[in-house]
Amino acid sequence: MDGAPKTLDDVQKGGHELIALCRDARCRFRKTIDLRRLIMNVGGWHQLLPTRGEPHFSDRMRCPSCKRMGMSLWLEPHIPPPRASSEPNFRVLDWGREYPYSTFTMIATADNLMVAGGAYVAAVLFYPDKWITLQQGAFVVEDSKRDGIPKHLTADDYKIMRDGEMSLSGVPPAP
Ligand SMILES: [Zn+2]
Repeated sequence: MDGAPKTLDDVQKGGHELIALCRDARCRFRKTIDLRRLIMNVGGWHQLLPTRGEPHFSDRMRCPSCKRMGMSLWLEPHIPPPRASSEPNFRVLDWGREYPYSTFTMIATADNLMVAGGAYVAAVLFYPDKWITLQQGAFVVEDSKRDGIPKHLTADDYKIMRDGEMSLSGVPPAP
């Protein structure tokens, strides 16, 4: 749903909350409205905001505290949580032993290429008879059938790669 909710149905569909606030300044009682019940009573097509000069259902709502008629409505918007980036950057895939290699098993995922590369090397060494790929989406970064058994990476290799990455981003390498 886009835009501000206009009707009670919109409020419910959007998962928002509606608060009733007593119009009497001395009372100011507030309560979360049971939307389902309100919609059952007055109808979901009702506009949330009163139109000037026209009767509105909120005029007929009675304050549970001071018993006066008339409540103001207050929208408590429901803001959906940001979608987590569920897709990892890199995937290490196991395509099995035999032609046509049409299905794969995901062995490892990582957001960092170096970490993914380490997992790829481990996978190729651990399953030398299988076809293993390291992919960024559909793009194949490493391919055990194409590239053969990779060189096992040492701590020094990682340091060199890390320094390389740092110098690319303008950070001077550690001494
Ligand atoms: Zn009141």
